[in-house]
Amino acid sequence: MRYLILSDIHANVTALDSVLAAARGQWDKAVCLGDVVGYGPDPNQAVERIRSLNLVTIRGNHDKAGSGLANADDFNPIARAVAMWTKEQLSPENRDWLQKLPGGPLVINDFRIVHGAIRDEDEYVFSPAQALDGLLETAPPVTFFGHTHLQGGFTFRDNQVGVLSFRPTGGQPFSTLSIETGTTYLLNPGSIGQPRDGDPRAAFAIADLAKNSVEFWRVTYNIEAVQNRMVKAGLPEPLILRLSFGR
Ligand code: ZN
Repeated sequence: MRYLILSDIHANVTALDSVLAAARGQWDKAVCLGDVVGYGPDPNQAVERIRSLNLVTIRGNHDKAGSGLANADDFNPIARAVAMWTKEQLSPENRDWLQKLPGGPLVINDFRIVHGAIRDEDEYVFSPAQALDGLLETAPPVTFFGHTHLQGGFTFRDNQVGVLSFRPTGGQPFSTLSIETGTTYLLNPGSIGQPRDGDPRAAFAIADLAKNSVEFWRVTYNIEAVQNRMVKAGLPEPLILRLSFGR
């Protein structure tokens, strides 16, 4: 079974459509690690596209804030402003769908999904020290997480934490990680709609754990088209500019 792993779409439907086009015919089932909305100009379209895929989605912090399930008090002023804007834009039906999303972690067949950390869905896992807690939970051995918008992750074997990062280049649109028995993995597919690892391309993963393989993909998309819609919607300039740099 090949699983398409989507995360941090952030209301960027142009990036999402480019991902779905690149992944067409390559997967059997899909999951989404949350943050369907927030930051980007297309909250309704992003929700509708994800709903049409009939997949398992858990909620992210921006899904909670954008749907009004949580207040955005812990957001920075820019993120809070867009959460308010998102709440106004969402149709009642899409808002309701976001509010009903389950929180992580959730176990799907032979892997686990969570938005942030296993013990706290809103916690960021940036460093090996922050990853260690999750890596010690060895069943199942593979967990996919999002939230940081950095494609890569962490491994644990022989009491050592390893750091993974990927940068597919050249002819191949993806880098393949071989899953080894006896190693625990916390893997981040990266962000579709607002990458922050210095690569502006949309990021996602395809996992085939029966074959011990996870592919980390990057695809280009029309960034300018999204930026133009953000200008039209009056969204904050720093959010518009950062898409060009993937930071
Ligand atoms: Zn996010």
